[in-house]
Amino acid sequence: MIEELKNKLNLIETNYTSKIQACKNVKDLQDLQVAAIGRKGELTELLKSLKDLSLEEKKIFGPLSNALKIKLSSLFEAKNAELENAAINEELNKTDLDLTLPAFPFNKGGRHPLAIAQKRMTDILSKLGFIWAHGPFIEDEYHNFDALNIPAHHPARDMQDTFFIKNPHKSDFVLRTHTSGVQIRTMQKQKPPIRIMAPGRVFRKDSLDATHSPVFHQIEGLYVDKNVSLADLKRDLTVFMQGLFGKKAEVRFRPSFFPFTEPSVEVDVKCVFCEGKDKNCPVCKGSGWKEMMGAGIVHPNVLRNCQIDPEVYSGYAFGMGVERLAMFSLGIKDIRAFYENDIRILEQF
Ligand SMILES: [Zn+2]
Repeated sequence: MIEELKNKLNLIETNYTSKIQACKNVKDLQDLQVAAIGRKGELTELLKSLKDLSLEEKKIFGPLSNALKIKLSSLFEAKNAELENAAINEELNKTDLDLTLPAFPFNKGGRHPLAIAQKRMTDILSKLGFIWAHGPFIEDEYHNFDALNIPAHHPARDMQDTFFIKNPHKSDFVLRTHTSGVQIRTMQKQKPPIRIMAPGRVFRKDSLDATHSPVFHQIEGLYVDKNVSLADLKRDLTVFMQGLFGKKAEVRFRPSFFPFTEPSVEVDVKCVFCEGKDKNCPVCKGSGWKEMMGAGIVHPNVLRNCQIDPEVYSGYAFGMGVERLAMFSLGIKDIRAFYENDIRILEQF
């Protein structure tokens, strides 16, 4: 009797083990489980014959059949998990569901540090009466160079410095190297008084390193009216720098040269990190000053190019890099931090 029962157990084991392995879907597996260890399953029925056995036989057959029940249960469980996973994967492959998308709750976006810097600068300029002006990113050579008194031999027109775009019909286009074209376009269609700011993206053939980028942002300002002098420029730019760096910010003007202004100046601000006291300051390199922008009195040729009489009108212009000022005021050491969009850096601002 007991040998016969043992044989039946072995038969059930081999039979169901191979059936479970071959099973292709969850529904079939459930039916198989019912047939094996369900209330009226094969193994359950076999267990019912336990009552006809002697005590000795029960001691052998009982543990054997229990062990098989446990083994089959775990086989069913493992196969069920395997089939469910396969079904989920098959379903996912059928749809465009992107599981790498961030889940709810979504991270709240914030302003980019460059946008923060630009807004601070344009806010101050707005208070000084400058209004926004816009121009095209793709300029013609006339507005980017000629009208600004930049002659053909000037290094700024070098192929190494500028992205030229071939134009078979007339002179080539360029990706604007500064926003000064906006000044020209404004003066061509509007008579003085003019007081504009031109923020925007500009392009130069610079290799990307810690302080250079082929794409960066500028803000230029232009003020043209009767009797505009260097004194007006110094007053307005001092107020601007103090608005940016605090009332105590010291501003220095140094003579310089630009083709489109005469006289021209560089505008420096006393280093806000070391106040000129640290010979090893990495920001000002120990000089105590940081160059912030170029400026000057608009060259008479530029006014003439825009049909504005330089005997009647005069003006000042200035231009600065948003990145440079943002790096200085936010303490960012590498310009690439603005473009790599590393969330760990961006969310600090
Ligand atoms: Zn310093």
